[in-house]
Amino acid sequence: MCGIFAYKGKRDTSLDLVVKGLQKLEYRGYDSWGVASEIDDNIFVEKSTGKISEVKEGAFADKKSHMAIGHTRWATHGGVTEENAHPHLDGDGEIAIVHNGIIENFQEIRDELGHGIFKSETDTEVIAQLIGKYRKEMDFKEAVLKTIERLEGRYAIVVMNKGEEFLIAARRGSPLIVGVGEDEYFLASDIPAFLEYTQDVNYLDDNELVVVDGGIEFFSLETGEKIEKRLVNIDWQAESAEKGDYDHYMLKEIMEQKETILRALNQDEDQINTVVEAIKNARGTFFSGCGTAGKVCMTGEYFFAAIADRHVNFQPASEFPIYHHFLRPESLLVTVSQSGETADVLEAMEVAKSKGSKVLSLVNVEGSTISRESDYSLLINAGPEKAVASTKATTSQLALLLLLAYAIKGQLQEGRRHLSEVGSQINDMLNPRFLTYIKEVAEKVKEANDLYIIGKAENYPMALEAAIKIQEVSYIHAQGFPAGELKHGPIALITEGTPCLSIIANDEVKADVINNTIELKSRGAYIIGIAPENNDVFDEWIKVPDVGVASPLVNIIPIQLLAYYLSTLKGLDPDMPRNLAKSVTVK
Ligand code: GLU
Repeated sequence: MCGIFAYKGKRDTSLDLVVKGLQKLEYRGYDSWGVASEIDDNIFVEKSTGKISEVKEGAFADKKSHMAIGHTRWATHGGVTEENAHPHLDGDGEIAIVHNGIIENFQEIRDELGHGIFKSETDTEVIAQLIGKYRKEMDFKEAVLKTIERLEGRYAIVVMNKGEEFLIAARRGSPLIVGVGEDEYFLASDIPAFLEYTQDVNYLDDNELVVVDGGIEFFSLETGEKIEKRLVNIDWQAESAEKGDYDHYMLKEIMEQKETILRALNQDEDQINTVVEAIKNARGTFFSGCGTAGKVCMTGEYFFAAIADRHVNFQPASEFPIYHHFLRPESLLVTVSQSGETADVLEAMEVAKSKGSKVLSLVNVEGSTISRESDYSLLINAGPEKAVASTKATTSQLALLLLLAYAIKGQLQEGRRHLSEVGSQINDMLNPRFLTYIKEVAEKVKEANDLYIIGKAENYPMALEAAIKIQEVSYIHAQGFPAGELKHGPIALITEGTPCLSIIANDEVKADVINNTIELKSRGAYIIGIAPENNDVFDEWIKVPDVGVASPLVNIIPIQLLAYYLSTLKGLDPDMPRNLAKSVTVK
């Protein structure tokens, strides 16, 4: 949540460069934005509510400087106003700061400093005011360090001080990455923001501080000592983080599923074997994730039971700490996260580690905090996912969990073969005719106030995921149920014409789900069947390939498309849904 971008280096167009970087981070927060730089011996700040994407190229061409900071906000403390947008200044207007996260003890610091000096309602401004206060007694870096000692909560910050030609950044719990170019440095919340300039990065770890001058120096916030860091080369192409010919990232990322399933299979065999051993040796395996990743975990529960004959327990990451009683040193926590920065997942990991349990993570972003803090980590290799609603990362996570289930059973190669076949079936399925048909279905149901989805066994979590997808981008009230639960309550909601999606795989529960679909139809529901075979009960039939136990991977794709078209047909922006942001780095 929230995008930070800062630049220090050889170019004198730092403000425009920061705007461009922030535009690539807009998916992280888009209620307001702001930039700051030193111009003519003063700190220049420009901020505004609304989207950074609306700022024109070269807007700051007349303001030359070699160093600037910027922010796109996802408000946590204080409304969406220009005053609350970052950067925030100290009382003298000499310190400028951008911040991602939450300062938990901000109220106490505000009380201490006196409310009269504050210009915004944010927690962030206390950092600027504290640094400004300490700066009067000590040098800039010491003032930042002394301020950090006072802060409780999670944060990534970048600070500049009038008259000083360097930036200071620090992190505790929120992501911050340093892009290292030739005589230039980029500080950003996520890698795609600077990929067009460099692929060499230094990851800032928790409790670290970096000083960006003519070079970069890293320090531990705990000991104050200097730290040596390894430069990592990122194997992502700048174009893969761009929209290309598509109107939206969401559609581009849905279409990329033609290839991403195969990339998820691109795993080092030794590493898979090590992970399989860890799962087999664990006494108590727990799956945890948030939102869509949580639904992937639930599907993984079925995969592990059906294929590997292993029982695992799922809890959403925000609930996981409550179940700490069951964790032991022999337990294994398996976390799933696209960004690898999800705050709730990090907390779940902290709890597991405090009990001596091991952690395996499945993430998309290499070098992310979750992947670095896990005992074992596997990459799903989906490439940058920028639309807030997850699509390609979802199916890649599903593919990797299914592959692991096969590997536990000693059938890694069979698993690879099966999933490669699924990949080519998805390639065939995503043809223009298929897309046109789903758009037509969306046209028919776009005025609905409510939409219900049913599924059973491995497709029950997909019914829940379908609801998330439709809610997120179309704002239609959508709810998923286990097919058999309908008659225990939800069926009372069905009236004439209520659209219902029924996910029916060619499996042993098929007859049950068909019966439940007939029950819906008998109450007047308009049935959209997602199935390999047609059925009289369907009003619309979205044909998907028959891929056996991998059915969740092919069933969720038309639902992603339906959500996309429901959004665009209603004139909404599916890439930036209201109230949401990608990479949820606050609790
Ligand atoms: N807590 C800060 C605010 O509300 C930062 C939020 C963010 O991470 O965007 O302004």
